[in-house]
Amino acid sequence: MTTRRTRFAPSPTGFMHIGNLRSALYTWLISKRKDGQFILRIEDTDQERKVEGAVDVIYQTLAACGLTHDEGPDVGGPVGPYVQSQRLDHYKPYAEKLVAEGKAYRCFCSKESLEAQATEGPDGQNTYGYNRHCRNLSPEEIEANLAAGKPYVIRQKMPLEGETTFQDLVYGEITVANEDLEDQILLKTDGFPTYNFANVIDDHEMGITHVVRGSEYLSSTPKYNLLYKALGWEPPQYVHLPLILGTDGKKLSKRHGATSFQDLVEEGYLVTAIVNYLAFLGWAPGSDTREIFSLEELRQVFDESHISKSPAVFDYQKLAWYNAQYIQAMTAGDFKAWLKPFSDAFFGSQAYDLDVLAEILQSRMETPQQFPEMLGFLKETTPYEAELFNNKRQKLTPALAKEILDVEIDLLDQLPDFKRETVHQALMDLGPARGWKTGQVMGPPRIALSGQNVTPGGAIEIMMILGREESMKRLKAGQKILADYLASHPQA
Ligand code: GLU
Repeated sequence: MTTRRTRFAPSPTGFMHIGNLRSALYTWLISKRKDGQFILRIEDTDQERKVEGAVDVIYQTLAACGLTHDEGPDVGGPVGPYVQSQRLDHYKPYAEKLVAEGKAYRCFCSKESLEAQATEGPDGQNTYGYNRHCRNLSPEEIEANLAAGKPYVIRQKMPLEGETTFQDLVYGEITVANEDLEDQILLKTDGFPTYNFANVIDDHEMGITHVVRGSEYLSSTPKYNLLYKALGWEPPQYVHLPLILGTDGKKLSKRHGATSFQDLVEEGYLVTAIVNYLAFLGWAPGSDTREIFSLEELRQVFDESHISKSPAVFDYQKLAWYNAQYIQAMTAGDFKAWLKPFSDAFFGSQAYDLDVLAEILQSRMETPQQFPEMLGFLKETTPYEAELFNNKRQKLTPALAKEILDVEIDLLDQLPDFKRETVHQALMDLGPARGWKTGQVMGPPRIALSGQNVTPGGAIEIMMILGREESMKRLKAGQKILADYLASHPQA
């Protein structure tokens, strides 16, 4: 059996969109599942759309995700160069050969003439952008045009009758009527190939066995196969990947949220979670119901026959769920190191204890996007009324809460230090001494510290995160709210 060779062929036109990254992942898996080779090729023939720095983003993203390539511009290989703009001398000879064999032709139509044709089309319909005006120029006309130095493109001569059929490993058999295929441009006036031409030449020269790409290329594939045929080459296997939609059924775009790998990482999604989730965007492991897969585990089970034809839905909530799973699986040290830039950004100039925060968050958080809502009280106490201290279950009233806070504030003020153990011991000893239950000891300070009666982490953890000064300030503010209330409600 021949070794599988697949390629990821991004155009350096910007950031790494998650659709592109999913293509890279599936392409990598399809070869690596069978111990094949994964090749990186940069498709930069559209120089106008080229973005500075985009190639580095591609390298960094692949490396971050563990999608290592066996051949590519940076690592070299036997069939380079791996950048299309460095392969320009590869394309023209094939185009000329096709012209000489009558399988392609020179088209001298000007932009204006093409625009005029676009409105004509057969049956008065604008089916074709191009009406094959130059397909049958006489040798004399061609000579005259060349002699006059008229610029020209080279177009593929499509069969006017019959059908072209190919097998896609995901979409099955696809057939198109040849008369519907435009005589597409292979070589532009500047001698640059079009994507449509270059991808065929390169995939052939690079020995690609499986072409994996988005389903937007499905309708062009018959044209590519006709090119393979015209050149006398064996076409590769095709694996077209389903579209990615947002939860509203529309094509995934910025409106739905972050759509580039970098933006997701910046928003606090872990690379492992992103890769795991992307694997499931259009694929599922048959009867296996597991959802958590490392890249290595995916490599062991990934099978292109389980890729779905129906569009995949990118659900940020599901991605957040994956993130929580991977956060929980991290070591405490790794989690803390990962958390720090996000919590630093959240707290700004305010001091906080990272260790305690990390301890509280690791089992509870999905993404740092939750911080304003989840941790807002750490930055600023939610405004609250004395009634918040009422708690039937704990038999707490504003009057008892005041009594408890008075004692606790005195006690905490006198502690030699504000270490967790010291604070914990001091408060826990109060219960038996005063006849208060733990819920009564811890409830009032939690409310005074946060302005909420439900918080991630309890009173002591909040005190540890905030530090002594801020904690005492908040406890005393709570004491004052209670004192004011009791003064105006003598019966409470
Ligand atoms: N350069 C194309 C793109 O980025 C690649 C498509 C293909 O894989 O052939 O969409």
